[in-house]
Amino acid sequence: MKKHNFSAGPCILPQEVMKKASEAVLDFNGLGLSLIEISHRSKDFVAVMEKARSLALELLGLEGKGYKALFLQGGASMEFLMVAYNLLEKKAGYLNTGTWADKSIKEARLFGEVLEVGSSKDKNYSYIPKGYTIPADLDYLHLTSNNTIYGTQIKKFPKTNAPLVCDMSSDIFSRQMDFSQFDLIYAGAQKNMGPAGTTLVVIKEDILGKVSRKIPSMLNYKVHIEKDSMFNTPAVFPVYVSMLTLEWLQNLGGIAAIEEINERKAQLLYSEIDLNPLFKGFAKKEDRSLMNATFTLSEEKLKDEFDEMCKEAGINGLNGHRSVGGYRASMYNALSLESVGTLVDVMSELERKA
Ligand code: PLP
Repeated sequence: MKKHNFSAGPCILPQEVMKKASEAVLDFNGLGLSLIEISHRSKDFVAVMEKARSLALELLGLEGKGYKALFLQGGASMEFLMVAYNLLEKKAGYLNTGTWADKSIKEARLFGEVLEVGSSKDKNYSYIPKGYTIPADLDYLHLTSNNTIYGTQIKKFPKTNAPLVCDMSSDIFSRQMDFSQFDLIYAGAQKNMGPAGTTLVVIKEDILGKVSRKIPSMLNYKVHIEKDSMFNTPAVFPVYVSMLTLEWLQNLGGIAAIEEINERKAQLLYSEIDLNPLFKGFAKKEDRSLMNATFTLSEEKLKDEFDEMCKEAGINGLNGHRSVGGYRASMYNALSLESVGTLVDVMSELERKA
């Protein structure tokens, strides 16, 4: 039976990417060797790393603009720490829009003063704070573009003279914007790129080298830039799969093309949530995420029936995060409109039966 994978991550990747990735595990580039047994310094893998890095910059429209792309390890959570290690001298601003933002704040507090410029904790992070003041003396301002757990997404980014740092783990490459407004972007691979194990970090080089502390090599962005993202053995398989996904996206027409599909998917699901009296959206409408739609059943007694119907339709990964409850439909780039259609059919069938 065809499965419809709405998992929040690790999540679905395009079928053709999965196929090429599995072939490379058996025989990479016709070398008679697996991708995961060749040297990361071999010309075949160096070409993969170079391609992945340049495709990332190209798709984001950041080529030739002073940015470097890195594929690091340690997940997005490692970046919570590395951002502060490399950029926080005195004071940084953070917008607290959810669990992940909160975790990044906790790490940054180990390195200097952290000012929460705004927070939506008062309403269980169901909205994006607006109208907050950004002081002029920040070393950087840190945002989370998409809040995976709560299903909120920043639509309009604040203007500031401070370097802008953004955790885009759950919406990178999903919508068009002027990416040059950011000085550092990071994203764990396991939503819109590839298997967990690598994190894309895109840095405007001129923001580095301004803190007085000594930075251990593995945590130092400059070291990783100097070594072309090969300071230590990179996560070869996740980097290769990320490269394949970025190629897939480029062939599809880039971010503009996927954004159109993502908008149609989100529109389809949110209109069902709004029109079907059995469901209720969690996030404030104007802040709703195109990637993660969070909703609850208006009558808890229908839960078993709805869950069973979802199972029968091949729907996977719909459970909400424990801090929100209910359901979360994650609609990352590789999820088809057809899969969203299947979910919407099940939701309206539940209404017909109730
Ligand atoms: N930031 C966001 C927005 C996330 O959604 C996640 C994980 O889901 C993380 C950070 C943490 O990522 P990792 O598990 O790669 O450390």
